[in-house]
Amino acid sequence: MKIAVVGTGYVGLVLGACLAENGNDVTCVDKDEAKVRRLRRGLMPIYEPGLEEMVRRNRAEKRLEFTKDLPRSVRAARIVFIAVGTPQHEDGSADLTHVLAVAREIGQAIDGYKVIVDKSTVPVGTAARVRAVIERETNHSFSVVSNPEFLKQGAAVEDFLKPDRVVIGVEDEKAEELMRELYAPFTRTGAPIMIMDCASAELSKYAANAILATRISFMNEVANVAEAVGANIDHVRRAIGSDRRIGPSFLFPGIGFGGSCFPKDIKALIKFAGDNGYDFQTLKAVDRVNEAQKVRFVAKLESHFGSIKGKTIAVWGLAFKPRTDDMREAPAIALINHLLRAKAKVQAFDPQAGSVAAGIFGRKISLARKSYDALKGADALVVATEWNEFREPDFGRMRKLMKTPVVFDGRNIYSPAGMKAQGFTYYSVGR
Ligand code: NAD
Repeated sequence: MKIAVVGTGYVGLVLGACLAENGNDVTCVDKDEAKVRRLRRGLMPIYEPGLEEMVRRNRAEKRLEFTKDLPRSVRAARIVFIAVGTPQHEDGSADLTHVLAVAREIGQAIDGYKVIVDKSTVPVGTAARVRAVIERETNHSFSVVSNPEFLKQGAAVEDFLKPDRVVIGVEDEKAEELMRELYAPFTRTGAPIMIMDCASAELSKYAANAILATRISFMNEVANVAEAVGANIDHVRRAIGSDRRIGPSFLFPGIGFGGSCFPKDIKALIKFAGDNGYDFQTLKAVDRVNEAQKVRFVAKLESHFGSIKGKTIAVWGLAFKPRTDDMREAPAIALINHLLRAKAKVQAFDPQAGSVAAGIFGRKISLARKSYDALKGADALVVATEWNEFREPDFGRMRKLMKTPVVFDGRNIYSPAGMKAQGFTYYSVGR
């Protein structure tokens, strides 16, 4: 099938590459000229495991191309995906400027029946708005589909190729048939394609992110109670996670959630629920707890040192989670800003997000090229992201490099007893 994907970010690029991988003819459109130029030269704008090889392979097979030319790509396609960003407005609502601008351009370009698929995460009612915007521009017939994306950054290719389910909101049977055909190769293992109305599809995406964020904030609070009463959150987590009604995922406490989705999506859900007369109280608490969790962790450094002014703090991990270079809303940003405000010196390392961090902090922090380089002369190490390579370090080498052997583990990747035996003063979350 001929497909156009508008927006070549974390979602659009993965979507385009995976659709091409299954034999479709895909054109990825982006308004960012530099990005398109780099992609044409085979350079990835983001880090996502397995993506680069897939893009290279499908470009070589001429099933995947990159362009700025939206009208031509739309005219050539049967299905057009909108996968542009929906950032957060100041009032918490989702900013639909990019989505609606793309809808208008699509309306101006179409020359026959097309299926327009909203892949971006958008509030309930957006499919109807996209329809209205396109109708203002054209008399050609088209269908609007809401097809939210559930991939996880860091495992995006794998998730897209083997989804748990595919959610498709439709208004008519013709679009449903085309979408079923498009997704058939991805659901051969039995994953269901769930057909529903657009409003339900749109709400499903927000509800999914909201329940995951809720689990994290909930477990952060249980961990805080564990600290207060002398319990160990690892035991508690295993005890509750083995209950089949609860399950083991998303029960790990830490320094708060971040990323380009959870923080903005829960705020958007709170906002559009409120706009429709419903006060979403649980989610408001989830958001508050998340902010408090970041501050609570920094307070541990302050209470250890008395003052962190003039201290050298090493930070391992900057991306909001492992296996990505994405630092949008990463807890490490709040942490580092706090350390800088308190006049500490920050030496940081991340396996993939170094250049993103350089763009955010400039010369305010020093970025190490290797994990151990960040430890030189450090008064303490903070682990902010649980990259695998931090899990089994050479503790002897760490001790030698650091001025004092103090570790603040925001992701609970080390064992308290093991760290004590290695001679470290060790702080973690809920243990
Ligand atoms: P992103 O910021 O990485 O990418 C968006 C891309 O769209 C950019 O390359 C930008 O240049 C391009 N763009 C913006 N306006 C355009 C226009 N008018 N024409 C052409 N291109 C345009 O965003 P992302 O992380 O890929 O997220 C996209 C959407 O998917 C968001 O709504 C997000 O909430 C949702 N989502 C994201 C994830 C994730 O893990 N990142 C997962 C599921 C859903």
